[in-house]
Amino acid sequence: MWYWEGDIRGCYSVKDGYRRLGVMTTQQSSVWNNVWKLQVPPKWKVFLWRALLNILPTLDNLIIRRVVDVNSCPSCGLDVECVMHIFCSCPYAVNVWQLSQIQIPPIANRNFVQWAEEWLGATTGFSSEMQGRICGVLHCIWSARSAAVWDAALPGPSALLSRLHAHWTAWLDTEHRRVAAIGRLPVTAPAQATSTTPIPFSCFVDASFHRPQRAPAFGFVVFGGEFSLVVAANGPLTCPYDPLLAEAMALCEALSWLKDNGYSGGSIYTDSSLLVSSLNSVSSFRNYFVYTLLACKHLINALPGTVVCFVNREANQVAHSLSKDVAAIAIRSVWRDVPHSFIEPMLANTI
Ligand SMILES: [Zn+2]
Repeated sequence: MWYWEGDIRGCYSVKDGYRRLGVMTTQQSSVWNNVWKLQVPPKWKVFLWRALLNILPTLDNLIIRRVVDVNSCPSCGLDVECVMHIFCSCPYAVNVWQLSQIQIPPIANRNFVQWAEEWLGATTGFSSEMQGRICGVLHCIWSARSAAVWDAALPGPSALLSRLHAHWTAWLDTEHRRVAAIGRLPVTAPAQATSTTPIPFSCFVDASFHRPQRAPAFGFVVFGGEFSLVVAANGPLTCPYDPLLAEAMALCEALSWLKDNGYSGGSIYTDSSLLVSSLNSVSSFRNYFVYTLLACKHLINALPGTVVCFVNREANQVAHSLSKDVAAIAIRSVWRDVPHSFIEPMLANTI
């Protein structure tokens, strides 16, 4: 019989395991919550979160994993590449920041989380609009660095910033339309206005199979209207080794939670394009998968204005991490207003 030292009942928990490893020691910073409040595309937030965790595939990280054995910054070739170099001290990044006319905080021996605390922390003087711009420039610098690695072509800083401006303007425009459309809903559906005012949301959902028995599990995360975290959940599924069926069952889990909690008029994202197309044309042949699809459609109809969309795997990282959590195959868990620190180690563990 074994005993986990430090726990009152001697029980091991993943959270405590990570705390012992020191993974969670720096995660009390307010930046971990504020990332999700940024008014930027979800993809940028996930990117920034990964940068804060230092789990981007930078050369220093790839050397630790023995994927590469030489570290020379792909953008400048003048120094070794690490997260602080890419985004702050690399001459290419310095150029981009200067051209953007954003006064970023000085490096001053800070690590990336400490540096981010200066502009995204609790006591920063940066406006939310400026925080969004900084996040966008960081994402752009990372995209440019990836182009240098994979296409051997580093975009000019002015072209990079022009693309950023165009992308962000388009996203803000779409977002404003979406919010305006939600605001108009009670006018077009007055019968619902008093008792079931829609609560907009964005939900990311995924399913995974755990080795060695291929045990299936789901994971989903829900963000509120301003992309603040509402809930994260995971748990076991009961199905054979059928990835598409598992994706449909995971979607069913997320939809059930959303319905039970009064949400509607939002977007649900899955990285299974086959699931999205199957929902749009349900077969007349009756099998377990089709019954699951019909259950999903029934739930979707109960959440007026809700759509299910395809998103690439990178943008679905959080839901994937939740479904990959080792505890998910044994017990259903729901975290409201989660300490993001719980998800972070899971995310780190999947990279
Ligand atoms: Zn460099």
